[in-house]
Amino acid sequence: MNSYDIAIVGGGPAGLSAAYSASRNGLKVVLFEKDKSIAHNIRTSGVSWIDAMKKLGIPAKLYNPIKNYRFVSPNNDIRINGAEAKSCVLDVRGLYQYLAAIAASKGADIFINATVRDVIFSKDNKKITSLIVSNQGRKNEFQCKLVIDASGFNSIIGRKLGYYSKWTRYGVGAEYECYCETLDLDTWTLMVGSQYSPAGYSWIFPISANRARIGVGIGKPESSEDPLELLNQLVGKKLKPIQELGSIQPIEYHSGFIPNQGTRISTVFDGLIVVGDAAGQSNPLVLEGIRHAIEFGRLAGKIGSESLISEDLNLIREYESEWKKIIGNKIQAALKVQTRWMNLSDDEWDKELEILKEMSIDEFLDFITAEFNAKKMMRLAINHPKLIVRQLFSLIVKK
Ligand SMILES: Cc1cc2nc3c(=O)[nH]c(=O)nc-3n(C[C@H](O)[C@H](O)[C@H](O)COP(=O)(O)OP(=O)(O)OC[C@H]3O[C@@H](n4cnc5c(N)ncnc54)[C@H](O)[C@@H]3O)c2cc1C
Repeated sequence: MNSYDIAIVGGGPAGLSAAYSASRNGLKVVLFEKDKSIAHNIRTSGVSWIDAMKKLGIPAKLYNPIKNYRFVSPNNDIRINGAEAKSCVLDVRGLYQYLAAIAASKGADIFINATVRDVIFSKDNKKITSLIVSNQGRKNEFQCKLVIDASGFNSIIGRKLGYYSKWTRYGVGAEYECYCETLDLDTWTLMVGSQYSPAGYSWIFPISANRARIGVGIGKPESSEDPLELLNQLVGKKLKPIQELGSIQPIEYHSGFIPNQGTRISTVFDGLIVVGDAAGQSNPLVLEGIRHAIEFGRLAGKIGSESLISEDLNLIREYESEWKKIIGNKIQAALKVQTRWMNLSDDEWDKELEILKEMSIDEFLDFITAEFNAKKMMRLAINHPKLIVRQLFSLIVKK
């Protein structure tokens, strides 16, 4: 029988980061990824923030820096320009494979094409003892002392154990990675309003010269529309601002689901830690979760391994208090703004863009990354006496 200290379910950014920090602490770690390679199926658009990537030690060659932010609604088109690049579009496959390589360099065993099917408990039914995994047509049992569920949207272990039910509010996205004849590499664009997405937004995210991700995200259950159909219409009809890209040729298709109802209430159970999308840790404002998945994946691996080393499994509870302290309130506040955005009409979107246009570049970046601390919010309200801006901020600070 295969025996490990920590078994990790899912080879996305959360699981790979947990594998890295746990094996760095000297523990015997195994990670299972059901796809046939790491980042084989891309389920994300890869926008993130350069400061966060630097803090996490991600090499700059793995992202395209972005300086400017453009928002297009049916009758409005605004740009917020920065002097230097603060955002970025990640080379998602490159990044995830880099995360896998650094985990492997610390000794983690990574099984690809390996689907976790079941969880086995000890006789007194209290403690997880092993995982059942299908790999190359065979089922194998892997013993472990601690499991980290990093299985993304499906929260496979949390749901199998009856701790969680399915997410009821979520986003679903469809995206082409395309050759584009003409592309402004410094600017990402979000398109809002019914023709782009009835509950959500569409995007153009430049990755490298003449290469961009063009996608549509739709909120469920708010809309029953299919994002792929809308994406094909967007690209086929070349709606503004797609027409500015000249000739477009899709090269890859990506799709995925992301929870959009705030965080799970509990993310630590007997012998189990839940992290990343499985825990609902993404920023709901623009549904970005990669930086949190890496940061809290590393935290889960670190605290999980320390608790095994000190033989005190209760220590894993610190994981939950730590990550909630960092992003719990921000996610709640961002969710309120996002819920408002889901219900805006085309006219209201035209006006909402005027609010964003009012912000300085730094204010905009704090806002979009959900950096809503009281001091920043107060400064925003003072700097922007217009009633419309104040309404947005009071939504954020209201308990
Ligand atoms: C359309 C779309 C666009 C997005 N755009 C952005 C963006 O621009 N920027 C950003 O930061 N975030 C974005 N996100 C969110 C981001 O992708 C997630 O927050 C992030 O991927 C979460 O990482 P994770 O490791 O928790 O989960 P995932 O990346 O979903 O990884 C989970 C992994 O677990 C594997 N798995 C699942 N079940 C099993 C099983 N039973 N056995 C073995 N393996 C299993 C899966 O194959 C997968 O590889 C987007 C999401 C979507 C859907």
